[in-house]
Amino acid sequence: MRDNDFTKILRWPGYRVYRNEIDEKAKTLRLWVRRKRGNRKLICSGCGRKFSEAHDHREREVRDLPWGEYRTTVVIEVYRVCCPTCGVKVEKVPQLPSKAPFSKRFEEAVGGACESASARQVARQFHLAASTVRAIDLRYLERWKAARRQPALREMGVDEIYLGKKMKFLTVVSNLESSEPVWFGQDRTQETLDEFFQTQLTARQRKRIESACVDMWKPYTNSIQQWAAQCRIIYDKFHVLQHANRAIDEVRRAEFFRKGGRMRGLVKGKRWLLLSRWVNLDSQKRQQLNELFALNRRVMKAYLLKESLERLWTYRYEAAMLRYLQSWIDQLRWQRLQPFQNLARLLLDHLDGILNYCRTTVRFGVVEAINGNIKTLLRRGRGYTNLRYLLLKAQRMAATKTEFIVLKKAA
Ligand SMILES: [Zn+2]
Repeated sequence: MRDNDFTKILRWPGYRVYRNEIDEKAKTLRLWVRRKRGNRKLICSGCGRKFSEAHDHREREVRDLPWGEYRTTVVIEVYRVCCPTCGVKVEKVPQLPSKAPFSKRFEEAVGGACESASARQVARQFHLAASTVRAIDLRYLERWKAARRQPALREMGVDEIYLGKKMKFLTVVSNLESSEPVWFGQDRTQETLDEFFQTQLTARQRKRIESACVDMWKPYTNSIQQWAAQCRIIYDKFHVLQHANRAIDEVRRAEFFRKGGRMRGLVKGKRWLLLSRWVNLDSQKRQQLNELFALNRRVMKAYLLKESLERLWTYRYEAAMLRYLQSWIDQLRWQRLQPFQNLARLLLDHLDGILNYCRTTVRFGVVEAINGNIKTLLRRGRGYTNLRYLLLKAQRMAATKTEFIVLKKAA
């Protein structure tokens, strides 16, 4: 095969192969490339200025896509230019996206593979270290992000995710219109969210936020009122129902666990049943719940209250919603279900934000979906100590709506 044929197969625009070396035993291919005769424009990698004269040149080695079974290395002549602004600076080569020893298309192949498999799996496939794969993936995602137009933030979601004992809480700001996370911050204080408004948005961008879906969590509300006073705060269904789930859990504990003995054994493992919605249960599970209710009417009452609260969000008129909430609260009377009385007080204290659901269209489910995605990533990734990486990963996932392929672990 002549160098010309190698050039054709390699297909690096503007470059030709002038030497090759094939090692059949080691299964490696080395190709030396330099600029084609017509390709003489040099671009300063610092400022983008064009030059026709080179200062000097040197060789760089990068790993490229494999040719069949052959691992391919490209040795490329890279020039330096004498730039009046940047000094002696290396030229910009499209196929060399970073200082790492990989070609752009090789990094793209690795990054693409990372979208559907874990870094460890990709590492095995490409014979790289897992840390190298993560570094390549991060650059791949940064390039994708830089080339992309950021959607405007009008409907914002603020949420917290518990990351475990070491990392504690993560504040997640998301764009509910484009269904993607926008920013991650450590902790869940007012200062955390303040930092988002301060560092990520201009004053104009802050003014453009129309609504914010948040949990009934004072620090977040305070921050939003300070930085985006015009924005409507909505306490969304997902979060309110989380509080309802917490309430039923408390009732369950009070009713059964403190009694101990036989009762305790009967309700063991039924916790998630009580947290599930009736419509999502099959007949066998419903039967189990009914048995539980036969033992304790108060748990049944609590379950019904939790179930009926969900109907609050079927109303689209404030008056109707308010009426329904009032009737729901009326049912609590004489029940002596303290956790639900606390919930009722919480709802009344945040009434305006709950009723705001009627004044603004909210994309329910988005908050929940984004949370789910991040949790999936965390479960698979193990050790996303780099929050920036986790954020980019979650954004890419939302943008491409990638479903993770569950790969069975090799025994
Ligand atoms: Zn320059």
